[in-house]
Amino acid sequence: MKEILKVENLTTHFFTDKGVVRAVDGNSFSIYEGKTLGVVGESGCGKSITAMSILNLIEKPGQIVDGSVKFLGEELVGTTDKRIREIRGNEISMIFQEPMTSLNPVFKVGDQIGEALILHRNMSKKEAKNVGIEMLQLVGIPRAEKVIDDYPHQLSGGMRQRVMIAMSLACNPKLLIADEPTTALDVTIQAQILSLMNRLKTETDTAIMMITHDLGVVAQMADHVLVMYSGKIVESAPVNELYGNPKHPYTIGLLKSIPRLDETREELNTIEGTVPSPFELPQGCYFEPRCDKAMEICKHKHPETYKINENHTASCYLYAEEGEE
Ligand code: SF4
Ligand code: MG
Repeated sequence: MKEILKVENLTTHFFTDKGVVRAVDGNSFSIYEGKTLGVVGESGCGKSITAMSILNLIEKPGQIVDGSVKFLGEELVGTTDKRIREIRGNEISMIFQEPMTSLNPVFKVGDQIGEALILHRNMSKKEAKNVGIEMLQLVGIPRAEKVIDDYPHQLSGGMRQRVMIAMSLACNPKLLIADEPTTALDVTIQAQILSLMNRLKTETDTAIMMITHDLGVVAQMADHVLVMYSGKIVESAPVNELYGNPKHPYTIGLLKSIPRLDETREELNTIEGTVPSPFELPQGCYFEPRCDKAMEICKHKHPETYKINENHTASCYLYAEEGEE
């Protein structure tokens, strides 16, 4: 498997008046060609900041304070603005939650898809328009020759998100980062877009980083999953193993809280307690105040990452005897 992105000890802090927020707290992971890495966790756990750190989009008071992000072997942390702009929107593309904010309302769809092609691929306007039409067809937009001349407001939310995907795929990126790409859409459109992304992954071999709070989306999309809690990856596992044999108490709690179609239950099983304030993180394991398996040591020292097997790790003392990563 070809490693497209290798992230090591990525650490992003926000220096605020109230104190330092360790938004991304020393995380390591890789993303491979033709595979989807799912990143799950509740809002505020550092998923989006991880994506923005990879893309060098962190602005003050935030800063990457440690670690490395290698894209096809090239270090992106500390690289020039010029170089990162060449990579962004070309070799690495992104899709965000709200397509209306990411599409420019005053430009036609075709001009927005074509912009990157003209800029990065030296295409003429006409060539770019033709590729644009092809991309719109690829993402299942009917009457693409007409839609290419439409303005974003003339399209439905689902169509706009398809346009965003077409735009992000126009340059044939090696890596696509999708941050809650379907959260704002209704269930039917969501299902269509996810199956479209799955199809494109197999057809184009693009590596995908899929950020979501929705475990159902992850089950459908991901090959491997990272579970984040308070800025840290607490579990990392292949998708089947994560669902079939979850190890970290937080993951177990998350999985219990998804309603299952084959079960009738009076109410959802949610994890008791709330995510700790980023200004007052527990001294030991960040999950300790909510953990029903907590031991004395959990209160005092943050656990290392322990190996469950070759592809599965958990940051939890319950697995300490299985050996450090
Ligand atoms: Fe629970 Fe301790 Fe494991 Fe943290 S390290 S998840 S508190 S058992
Ligand atoms: Mg987010």
